[in-house]
Amino acid sequence: MSDKGKILIVEDEHRIARFLQMELQHEGFEAATEDNGRRAYDRIMQEDYDLILLDVMLPEMDGLTICQRVRELSDVPIIMLTARDEIDDKVKGLNIGADDYMTKPFATPELLARINVALRKRTRTEVREQSEGEVLRVKNLAMYTLRHEVMVGEESVELTKKEYDLLEMLLRNKRNVLTRDQILSDVWGYDYMGDTNVVDVYIRYLRQKLDDRFDEKYIYTMRGVGYVIKD
Ligand code: CA
Repeated sequence: MSDKGKILIVEDEHRIARFLQMELQHEGFEAATEDNGRRAYDRIMQEDYDLILLDVMLPEMDGLTICQRVRELSDVPIIMLTARDEIDDKVKGLNIGADDYMTKPFATPELLARINVALRKRTRTEVREQSEGEVLRVKNLAMYTLRHEVMVGEESVELTKKEYDLLEMLLRNKRNVLTRDQILSDVWGYDYMGDTNVVDVYIRYLRQKLDDRFDEKYIYTMRGVGYVIKD
């Protein structure tokens, strides 16, 4: 096993596939080849690759279809390999979730550089997710539950304890409408004796700090029912 990473080269031109395999092995990667589209898809789904080099024109299943289907279930980095006259395919490749593309014929140093970028990007994402604990999201808003922080894009949002609890409840029930009573008992407790309007007041505070400030709609009012947060 190589510790630099395991790469699958999906390419039906054996000369190119073999060349890539040797170059990657020389760089310390574990490199396997596959020349059939359908088999490639099965292997990507069954085995644990760190990166896929994916040709577009392949027998049985083309590279764009493979990329699209893999993306439904996996975020393994994919670099599309396209022929010079497949410009449209490049664009499609990125739209369906490829991380990068290279036009054939390509220079090996450039391909290796792009492979390293794609692998580093993935490692950073994994490390970040491990250290942040659970992250609740809606649109461009993220709540990092471990460190009690709310971010909209790159900006941090200051919330009071009750505002935070209310937002967390909405996020945990994303797309489900919550009644005022549900919110009241969950966030303020069953023994809360104050005004039930407190829910509406705090929804207003949240909207000022989120919807108004970032000019985006997060919290929706369902008239006569309650509130819901959704994408
Ligand atoms: Ca091909």
